[in-house]
Amino acid sequence: MRRCASFVLILTLILPSMAVGADDATLPGYSPQTSQTEREWEAKFRAIPDPANLRETMKRLSARPHHVGSPYDKDNAEWILARFKEWGLDAHIETFDVLFPTPKVRVLEMLEPVKFTAKLEEPALAVDPTSNQKSEQLPTYNAYSIDGDVTAPLVFVNYGLPEDYEKLDRLGISVKGAIVIAKYYESWRGVKPKVAAEHGAIGCLIYSEPKDDGYTRDDVFPQGPMRSSDGVQRGSVMDFAASSPGDPLTPGVGATPDAKRLSLKEAKSITKIPVLPISYGDAQPLLAALKGPMAPDEWRGTLPIPYHVGPGPAKVHLKVESNWDIKKVYDVIAKIPGTSAPDEWIVRGNHHDAWVNGAEDPVSAQASLLEEARGLGLLLKQGWKPRRTITYAAWDGEEPMLLGSTEWVEAHAEELRQHAAVYINTDGNDRGVLNMGGSHSLEHFINGVARDIEDPESKMTVWQRLQLNRIAEAKSADERKELRQRADLRIDALGSGTDFTAFLDHLGIATLDLAYGGEDEQGIYHSIYDDFYWYTHFSDTDFVFGRALAQTVGTSVLRLADAEVLPFEFVNLADTVQKYTTDLKKLLADKQDEIRERNLELEEGVFKATLDPRRPTVAPSKEEVPPHLNFAPMQNAADALTQSAEHYQKALLQKQASLNQEGDRAALRILNQKLIESERRLTDAAGLPRRPWYTHLLYGPGVYTGYGVKTVPGVREGIEQKRYAEAEGEIARVSKALEAESALIEEAAQQLEHLAP
Ligand SMILES: [Zn+2]
Repeated sequence: MRRCASFVLILTLILPSMAVGADDATLPGYSPQTSQTEREWEAKFRAIPDPANLRETMKRLSARPHHVGSPYDKDNAEWILARFKEWGLDAHIETFDVLFPTPKVRVLEMLEPVKFTAKLEEPALAVDPTSNQKSEQLPTYNAYSIDGDVTAPLVFVNYGLPEDYEKLDRLGISVKGAIVIAKYYESWRGVKPKVAAEHGAIGCLIYSEPKDDGYTRDDVFPQGPMRSSDGVQRGSVMDFAASSPGDPLTPGVGATPDAKRLSLKEAKSITKIPVLPISYGDAQPLLAALKGPMAPDEWRGTLPIPYHVGPGPAKVHLKVESNWDIKKVYDVIAKIPGTSAPDEWIVRGNHHDAWVNGAEDPVSAQASLLEEARGLGLLLKQGWKPRRTITYAAWDGEEPMLLGSTEWVEAHAEELRQHAAVYINTDGNDRGVLNMGGSHSLEHFINGVARDIEDPESKMTVWQRLQLNRIAEAKSADERKELRQRADLRIDALGSGTDFTAFLDHLGIATLDLAYGGEDEQGIYHSIYDDFYWYTHFSDTDFVFGRALAQTVGTSVLRLADAEVLPFEFVNLADTVQKYTTDLKKLLADKQDEIRERNLELEEGVFKATLDPRRPTVAPSKEEVPPHLNFAPMQNAADALTQSAEHYQKALLQKQASLNQEGDRAALRILNQKLIESERRLTDAAGLPRRPWYTHLLYGPGVYTGYGVKTVPGVREGIEQKRYAEAEGEIARVSKALEAESALIEEAAQQLEHLAP
């Protein structure tokens, strides 16, 4: 699983004057000599990944459904293990015992005003050879929906987000005691039943709207890549953002056989109301039977019906029951021991389980991971000796909610806290530009890697293609100016929705999340049609972007594993923190303005004047204007961070030439330990308010977005959710962490300066 971004890539003319980073420059963290050697190994590595292998691997791993607990899931894990071993890596399978519900009963029918029974079934297609593996396919359902049997009037709630319910309030419509029907996307799907339950709904349907991933965008499968009228998006609805991901019965600890387990009733992350995903074929009769006010313009989709909100007269019966079984997940772990710094670890992962056949999600990127591992095996045979220890992980149980990776991280938390320097994640790959997300201390590093990878289509570097695409899409002259002048392209802050979550958010391990994409539309996400036939007709059909991904991530792994000094860089981090501070001040000011304006309009009678008695609406209520908050501690801490970051950068440049001098091994070790510690300093063991599992103070999934990141989540969500005193407390806490980070970077700079000569 990962966020399914559907944006259109705009191709631009190549500007020959645009500068590309010189690839003969000394690599950060290396001396000129070791940099040269490193570049030679990297070039050898990049010649290895082969599209023909990627294709064969995809064919093998996606040949049958391979969800958690299925025979082919285990079979794939064993096959991956055998490949790691064949390539000379020290590999094993580590298992955990996790709660994984599968469907027992699924009923959806309309009782009034007309009778209709939903199909809840994706048909096999003659042209698509794996779509008929019915006996092995998981039926369409949302995992971790609570069991329930409810009958109630239906209400259409748009995407089912908090702001949609504010609109419903204005329309005078309550969902209390109703079953809601929400569209997929715009948030983590588990947010929809969560918000519905908070507003008193007793059941939730989620449907795939053709405007979002169906015929409105392109032809439907099998003529095109989009979702057909029977296509359904399976998926987890676990409320992980408000509690924790991983096995719901063993939060915070590895789900080993002897782990203490909660009872099902005590598990916090299971939904409060029953949920079922449906196709637009099943949704259309239900939506067509709604009356009540017309849905606001922006809520309406492209089905040939008037979109009313309800409630009713459509009355539906929803029944959902699961088998609440404990299943085994099989994480495949391969190690390459480091030579001179074996206790500094680089970890690289991608999941291998899928909802059904999962050619795109996750096999497209799992295949790249395996090509990387094969490549590293070949380099080892040619005499390459990584300085640090490298771990390759093929996670199981990602789809239900990051089960394999979370349990592994929780089980190994102590050693990971001490040793893990960086985690690199992928989860699916398509054609297009490089999407880079991660910790901003790695922003400069990953920009450097992107400057060394060739784009398979334009033949420019993937960095340059991304820069030019961003210029084409930029919304303002300021944005374009920054894209042309800033040395590095900004990377996205990470929310959640894939396996990096426990590494970054729980332990504070610096993280990267990478993928190519943006050129092709797709509407097969989590359906039986995400398979080899679809991928080889509508995505990276010749696997050249699969090769580019293996080259990108493999180069990153090599460069991180071999550097004398871990290539963290803090000037971009400080720049990002400055930006967040400005953003938060603006968020509060905008909120104050908005409430002031609304209060004024209430006094003026704007809502009375605009009331159409035939389409009645309810005026909002007056609200207190948010108080001012003291951002000074955060601003001061951000300034201190900027200073120490610049100091560190200067020190590193000065010492670059002597980095590989013998005699300073112990000093380098101390320096690297400080660098490993740098992301941990941005965490607080007490965790975010009401969700102690999440300890990172700069990045976290939003409680009401799930996938989408909330940067500086304690402060931001405090403001958004109107807990102003809490937000002020969080500003102080974040400031303290930033001060500790500056102090550490300052120590690292001094450590560098004391290196001989
Ligand atoms: Zn995935």
